[in-house]
Amino acid sequence: MILDRIFPRLCLHCQSPGHRLCPECLDLLELLPPTGRCLKCFRESQEALCRPCRKRPSIFHRRAALFEPEGPALDLISRFWKGSDLPLIDLLASFIALQLDRLKWEWPDVIAYDGGPFQKKNTVPALAKACGEILQRPTVRLKEDDFPRKVVLVIEPRGEIAIFPKRLYAMHLFLSTQDR
Ligand SMILES: [Zn+2]
Ligand SMILES: [Zn+2]
Repeated sequence: MILDRIFPRLCLHCQSPGHRLCPECLDLLELLPPTGRCLKCFRESQEALCRPCRKRPSIFHRRAALFEPEGPALDLISRFWKGSDLPLIDLLASFIALQLDRLKWEWPDVIAYDGGPFQKKNTVPALAKACGEILQRPTVRLKEDDFPRKVVLVIEPRGEIAIFPKRLYAMHLFLSTQDR
């Protein structure tokens, strides 16, 4: 397969034989657990809502992330940002579907991505589309639509979001330490 020449069959994390990740490193990939985290922003918190979320309203009804930015997950996501690795995009989309299932969020009506200038390599739109296929929902670019009565899930939002759907959810690849 031509992809094997572009992306050799070596683990992205430890370089032992494996397709993107070897079985050992794949085992180390663990989705962040929803327990012990703020319902709204997904930061670690003893209480249901963390202090910043109690003080300040957020445009997002809920936010969550897949991984801590370390170990095999870090190499996998770095590879993702380089673009055009379709099997990797499908793998990440499956992780997003799995995480949504564990979070027990309401099922979104629409999967969205923001089409900011950082999207040079089309990575996030491709990931959002792959999620839309798994969840069987339409995928749209945020700025072209508004969704007054819809539940919208945005994949990896970065820029300002100025839409007001029924409810807005966000899924990030990594847990962010900074306030958004
Ligand atoms: Zn490995
Ligand atoms: Zn919070």
